Amino acid sequence: MAELIDGKKISTEIKDEVKAKVAALKEEGVEITLAVIQVGADPASSVYVRNKKNACAYTGINSLSYELPEETTEEELLALIDKLNADEKVNGILVQLPVPKHINEDSIIKRISPDKDVDGFHPESVGRLSIGERGFVSCTPAGVIQLLKRSDVKIEGAECVVIGRSNIVGKPMAMLLIRENGTVTVCHSRTKDLREVTKRADILVVAIGKPKMIDASYIKEGATVIDVGIHRNEDNKLCGDVDFESASAVAGKITPVPGGVGPMTIAMLMNNCLEAGLMQNGR
Ligand code: NAD
Repeated sequence: MAELIDGKKISTEIKDEVKAKVAALKEEGVEITLAVIQVGADPASSVYVRNKKNACAYTGINSLSYELPEETTEEELLALIDKLNADEKVNGILVQLPVPKHINEDSIIKRISPDKDVDGFHPESVGRLSIGERGFVSCTPAGVIQLLKRSDVKIEGAECVVIGRSNIVGKPMAMLLIRENGTVTVCHSRTKDLREVTKRADILVVAIGKPKMIDASYIKEGATVIDVGIHRNEDNKLCGDVDFESASAVAGKITPVPGGVGPMTIAMLMNNCLEAGLMQNGR
């Protein structure tokens, strides 16, 4: 039976580290503030936004909340981002995605100042990651790296396979694993023989968006399996892209859903806010 990688515990460790650093900065008179913008009232987005604000409260980061109506125009949203970009008291800006269809997501991502891009989605942040410069990294893949490191999984020299090539998970995940000296293969919907590739993996990161698709037959004995997927099954219970029961019989270490990657995303957002505060104060 695989050993569980406890994302809840590790995310609390990270939030506590951020909290201590935020408190130390406060003593020096430096406060950190995150602006959170939500357009419309999508229930799932509201839950994410609430969790982010709670994590800010926990870590001592100030949060400013902008709840805009569904009919907000792109121009209005861009104008608010401009205002927050120019506000020296605001260190990080986050627009909860998805935005309503009449707003171009790309224009929003590109308008946030790269210095305040705590989600790490701006092309400049992505470029910095790919050439190994200091900058903001997309929170979910950054969280996966912390899960691996803090569970004593050696990335250097390991055969790492990422399933999924999205801009927010798969691609930055691959870049981060390369940065950590892993040998990285990225699979996607056009990969010819998925099992043949995934069975080579010492570390398998699954970000497909298909409930329970990856079972034991895709996994090498003793491999570490990280499940990024989040779904609700027929019984309204959370599950991942990995068939946990089947996979945990062959994996060496595995993340559960819930309680694996999910809580890490918000912890890494808090870490990015701290990083924004440090960079903007010349540290
Ligand atoms: P996406 O839909 O943008 O990308 C899915 C990727 O999977 C694509 O690159 C596609 O090529 C690949 N794919 C699809 N079908 C495949 C198949 N049959 N074989 C191989 N590859 C296949 O999804 P995403 O935004 O990267 O998210 C992936 C999953 O992670 C979703 O379940 C999402 O809800 C979850 N997610 C979780 C968090 C978190 O905080 N835990 C954050 C972001 C996303």
